[in-house]
Amino acid sequence: MMSAKRRLIFKNKHHKQEIKVSQKITAVRGFKDILEQEAPGWRKIEDVARTKFLRFGFKEIRLPLVEKNEVFTRGIGEHTDIVEKEMYTFLDRNDELLSLRPEATAGVIRAVVEHDLYKQHPVLKLFTFGPMFRRERPQKGRLRQFHQFDAEVIGSASPVADAEIICLAWQIIREFVSQDRLNLELNSLGCRLCRPIHRENLLKYLEKIKETLCDDCRRRAETNPLRVLDCKNEHCKAALKDAPLLKDYLCEDCVQHFSQVRDHLNQFNIPYILNPHLVRGLDYYVKTTFELVATDLGAQATVAAGGRYDGLVRDMGGDDIPGVGMAIGAERLMMLMEEDAWEQAIDLYLIYMGEEAKRLALSLLPPLRETLSVYAPYEQKGLKAHMRMADKLKATAALIIGDNEIARKKAVLKHLVNHEQIEISFNDLAQEIKQQLCAKKETFNNTRG
Ligand code: ATP
Ligand code: MG
Repeated sequence: MMSAKRRLIFKNKHHKQEIKVSQKITAVRGFKDILEQEAPGWRKIEDVARTKFLRFGFKEIRLPLVEKNEVFTRGIGEHTDIVEKEMYTFLDRNDELLSLRPEATAGVIRAVVEHDLYKQHPVLKLFTFGPMFRRERPQKGRLRQFHQFDAEVIGSASPVADAEIICLAWQIIREFVSQDRLNLELNSLGCRLCRPIHRENLLKYLEKIKETLCDDCRRRAETNPLRVLDCKNEHCKAALKDAPLLKDYLCEDCVQHFSQVRDHLNQFNIPYILNPHLVRGLDYYVKTTFELVATDLGAQATVAAGGRYDGLVRDMGGDDIPGVGMAIGAERLMMLMEEDAWEQAIDLYLIYMGEEAKRLALSLLPPLRETLSVYAPYEQKGLKAHMRMADKLKATAALIIGDNEIARKKAVLKHLVNHEQIEISFNDLAQEIKQQLCAKKETFNNTRG
């Protein structure tokens, strides 16, 4: 929370700042523009994800980006990296402490509890998509504003729900990467019954090796000992080699649940790797936890992650009902997509030269745009300049109407992929162009298979 003194310093500093009007203003570090070349790729991943969510019977909800800070301190846990170090938290003008959402689950549960949604439907299957905010060190695949696809099943303890959530993440990512480049890592974190016994033994072990641990781990050993198990530091990894693992402490119920989840993954034909060191950064996970890792993405290779959170709805003020969910990192999904899949198709570039041609061309636009994407330039240029522009826009075809064409009452349709050229009479011009281009689209799609 910003003290009154800090607020004053902040105010003075910013008032005194010299204003250089000629200087460019850049975006904030870690906050990235998605420009026109990339936007089609984004539309594609959104389309793929949305189609899958709907096929799996999930319904969309859209939630605010700003929540009361308590949603995350309660929902994620006070002693998590996200809440301690990464969250954007600020005092609103009425002194209310607010945060930009760093992830979606806590907000989804807040909304579900606030609107009593689980009382209307015993099992809710919800998805949402949008920006999340974490103040991390920006690097490739790691931003301060990033995007997630998020899915939650609330109200079912069935291991089928865990397997279905994993299958959903798997299928979405598999649209962009082959199976041999994708690993599903799986673990069980136990439950309220078996976790405390493991914790006690882990604390004893950590006490013995604490001198060899990194600063972060020494701090975590006090606040969130489970997190020590997935430290990436090589010294810590070596020291933790013989640390007690949850898999050896699971109660009968957790063993059964985990075994059934694995059976269902087999039935869904999804291979997995057991990783007993896999723990998640959010406090709320119990039982199943998983990550989907793309093997050739370098340092930021985890594309999706999730797990079961049976105590969360209760902790957020609702009834004691179970839940399981996952989030896919959209930037990392984009990194998996071939860049040529990003292209945005323009069906027709419409070239007109002269006043009469312009009048005719503009009157063609509304009927053509009923079915085709058409680019009509605003400025008059020479034919060559227009053709260069049509190529640059990767248009499928160009329609040319100049003085010659006006005199002959025929327009020229030029196919820019195979350079075929035909003349089309002015009678019923729009209809004929549509037919020609739709036929071309079909043969093109068929030959692509
Ligand atoms: P990491 O270990 O990479 O920090 P995390 O455990 O903090 O990930 P989750 O909170 O589980 O991540 O989020 C799920 C997914 O969201 C991650 O697997 C990743 O694909 C994506 N993600 C998380 N943080 C970022 C970020 N700062 N920038 C881009 N994507 C992110
Ligand atoms: Mg993180």
